Amino acid sequence: MGEANLRVALVGAGIGGLGAALVLRRAGLQVEVYEQAAELSEVGAGIHLAPNGSRVLHRLGLEPRLREVAAQPQALQVRLWDRGVTVARQPMGAAWAAEFGAPHYTLHRADLHRILAEQVPAESVHLNHRCTGFAEDEQGVRIDFADGSSAHADVLVGADGVHSVIRQALAGSEQPQFAGTAALRGVVPAELVPELAVEDMYVWTGPSARLLVCPVQGGRGLAFVAVVPDSGDLRDSWSRQGDPAALAAAFADWEPTVRTLLGAATEAGHWSLYDREPLARWSTGRSTLLGDAAHPMLPHYGQGASQALEDAVALAACLGERTAGPAGIAAALRRYQELRLEHTTRVRGEALTGGSQRLGGRKEGEMSAMVEDIAWVQRYDVEQALAPAAAR
Ligand code: FAD
Repeated sequence: MGEANLRVALVGAGIGGLGAALVLRRAGLQVEVYEQAAELSEVGAGIHLAPNGSRVLHRLGLEPRLREVAAQPQALQVRLWDRGVTVARQPMGAAWAAEFGAPHYTLHRADLHRILAEQVPAESVHLNHRCTGFAEDEQGVRIDFADGSSAHADVLVGADGVHSVIRQALAGSEQPQFAGTAALRGVVPAELVPELAVEDMYVWTGPSARLLVCPVQGGRGLAFVAVVPDSGDLRDSWSRQGDPAALAAAFADWEPTVRTLLGAATEAGHWSLYDREPLARWSTGRSTLLGDAAHPMLPHYGQGASQALEDAVALAACLGERTAGPAGIAAALRRYQELRLEHTTRVRGEALTGGSQRLGGRKEGEMSAMVEDIAWVQRYDVEQALAPAAAR
């Protein structure tokens, strides 16, 4: 164990940043979080917390809070886009939890964000702090903000998402690659779509688009993500609003349940999909990256939040076990990078072509192949990966 009172500055209070703040604080480190937004507001739609991510939050004692707001889908139904027939049904629920060691939850991103925020003292989350850059030396790191102020810490963690400023400073300004599609997402009250059982999640795959629906808000809401062709717009943000009427029009010849669901949408957040090549390294002597800043990936694998939470556990363990002095910090950040880079690179690679993209046309008997595709990610236990080889 290194010297106590290591000061960690986290840039970004998304799920990765808040998750890391929680885990690092539990490991006894001093944590300050700097977030550009003026408030920790309710943004986003449905998010998946796969067993590898829910395992992390259960171990932190958050299972009761998750159970209040999340749904645990009982099955995944694959439906024909034009006739609405269910061609395959993969049981999930308790069977899935038993298979992978923890449940698969679907929930509103804002609920997950709030659960994490509740665990971090408000006075250590500094809002209205847009980071513009940083400088590090043997003594520490200085973090600069757009208002001209700065902060000092022993370690800097960039958890500032896919357009990360810290990543750019660490790794240069390589351009994100546009995937040619956008995700339009929102939540509708489940009571407006009585045709769909809220216990299940669904995917319809059509000729040029795909629609995924999962229960959120404990089953009171149905979150949808429509993946459609897009022209791309780098200025897009998570909070950019799409046009619900245009979305409904794009699915006008799909089966009636799809039309009912999208017709009930009053919001359709527009998210153009970008990917980035994996980095060769993401840590320096005192600075590192976490979550989407480190390894942005397309959303088709539903792993963005879970991978960020795994990063948080790995980082806390490495910093908690560091040896004294700057060399100990540098070695801990290198170890964290070694532990996470290879795994997240593989997950990102699978997200390029796998996950929900491979569900089109699946028949009942082929679902086990889909489960095999994702089992290695869902079974992954970051704490086991951290254990010395002899203890595994
Ligand atoms: P993010 O969740 O992107 O968080 C990054 C944080 O850093 C944000 O709070 C951002 O404001 C802050 N930040 C960025 N730049 C700076 C800066 N220069 N200085 C200070 N702070 C900065 N995923 C889904 O599957 N479904 C959704 O509906 C969904 N909605 C989302 C809505 C929003 C507003 C955001 C930011 C992300 C959303 N995501 C959603 C993505 C998902 O949250 C992430 O992929 C995953 O949780 C990993 O999160 P992260 O913390 O690494 O990055």
